[in-house]
Amino acid sequence: MTHTLANWICGAPAPATSGQQLPVYNPATGAVSGQVQLASHADVAAAVASAQAAFPAWSNLSPLRRSRVLNRFLALLNEHRDDLARLITAEHGKVFTDAQGEVMRGIEVVEFACGAPQLLKTDFTDQVSTNIDNWTLRQPLGVVAGVTPFNFPVMVPMWMFPVALATGNTFVLKPSPIDPSPSLYIARLLKEAGLPDGVFNVVQGDKEAVTALLEHPDVQAISFVGSTPIANHIYETGARHGKRVQALGGAKNHLVVMPDADIDQVVDALIGAAYGSAGERCMAISVAVFVGDETAEKVMPKLIERTRALKVLDGKNLDAEMGPIVTRAAHQRITGYIEQGIKEGATLLVDGRNFDAETAGEGCGDGFWMGGTLFDDVTPDMRIYKEEIFGPVLACIRVKDFGEAVQLINDHEYGNGVSCYTRDGHIAREFGRRIQVGMVGINVPIPVPMAWHGFGGWKKSLFGDMHAYGEEGVRFYTKQKSIMQRWPQSIANGAQFAMPTSN
Ligand code: NAD
Repeated sequence: MTHTLANWICGAPAPATSGQQLPVYNPATGAVSGQVQLASHADVAAAVASAQAAFPAWSNLSPLRRSRVLNRFLALLNEHRDDLARLITAEHGKVFTDAQGEVMRGIEVVEFACGAPQLLKTDFTDQVSTNIDNWTLRQPLGVVAGVTPFNFPVMVPMWMFPVALATGNTFVLKPSPIDPSPSLYIARLLKEAGLPDGVFNVVQGDKEAVTALLEHPDVQAISFVGSTPIANHIYETGARHGKRVQALGGAKNHLVVMPDADIDQVVDALIGAAYGSAGERCMAISVAVFVGDETAEKVMPKLIERTRALKVLDGKNLDAEMGPIVTRAAHQRITGYIEQGIKEGATLLVDGRNFDAETAGEGCGDGFWMGGTLFDDVTPDMRIYKEEIFGPVLACIRVKDFGEAVQLINDHEYGNGVSCYTRDGHIAREFGRRIQVGMVGINVPIPVPMAWHGFGGWKKSLFGDMHAYGEEGVRFYTKQKSIMQRWPQSIANGAQFAMPTSN
């Protein structure tokens, strides 16, 4: 039995008018589980019109009343979080416990956004000049849109819309067509929480829907998360159409292993961060940088053993450590990179292509399976080092000292996340200060900032100047207005021609 996934416009499901649809797969079995309809330009226009119509009333509500709706949504999310996690596993393939973690990280942003009254509190100066006061407002932008990737179908939309709604905007979400179900589940929960119709809308689809959003004059801002070439395109096109844009792109995240690091902790960190979610995380560690050959020699035997022993199973299985790859196309792309690494002369220590799908569980024979892959002797000129593979492939590279490790990372075109394992406080401090990367972990392999700190990379990992969620998110979704005020009793007679100054 397959099901059809439509748009969600003005508080109700809305079939797409394009007549086009794409199959949705269960990556564990390779079976088609549904069909997602693709929004046409007209569907996007209807969603934006619905958001535009809802904006005046929603933006005029007191922040406390908006946050009460979000609080009810939060309660419903907590009640249904395992249902959402199951939907993620069914369409993305990631293991259920990881999907639960994803939902929780999204919930944390909702918890942050529930503090809207405090977040929107601004500053006031009494007497900036005699009898004149000056204060700041932060006002919503209007209709804003979010375009999200396949790898976090719950968490990444929740980096965006809770903050956008809390600050008084109305929202149009365009999720990935690979795993569209969670977006509609979320839309229903928001409605049940009492969100007025039209405040949150979903348009399904791909390039055409995104182009329609980018070109629509009533869309004031776009938040995008996805691969770097598309992020770049969204940033340039959105800016050309006069929109505020925040476009988060791809990554190549390094974990530096200093000679004094605890080897068992390093192996645990690398295994979890490289192969968790099958490496399909923008904060996954895809490069291990060993400072000194001796450090590498100590880690490598354990790393090989643990990579071979990964429990690669259907994500429904609670023992699973890694699930399938998201699509057949992604599987082919990753396989191509493994072949490329061999051709380029890297040493293949563990080959994930040898994985037997039958061992993943019953019915998994036609799923998109592979095991973890481990390369040693990788060098900076190889494509498997330079490019984002976005799969369970860990590249090991050796450098002679700390300075070379920092230089290597700073020379890479991506700058999303990075980690350094050491017991030396001076090294830790130097690393944090010198590294040209947006999110840094010291003995933390995946340093995804908490909801009130904001998420974002540097270099080709982010186009735009503000990070997602946290205070930067509040700034992104609001415009600053400065109001200066005095009253007639205190205005002196006479026109003033000189530039006013404080007196
Ligand atoms: P993607 O770039 O293929 O797709 C992202 C979104 O863009 C989807 O909604 C997709 O439908 C849409 N899209 C695709 N092609 C388009 C086009 N030509 N024009 C307009 N829109 C288009 O990314 P993906 O494969 O879904 O996700 C994986 C990528 O996302 C990886 O590169 C990963 O690093 C990145 N990512 C980054 C972050 C971050 O915070 N920096 C977080 C998660 C994922």
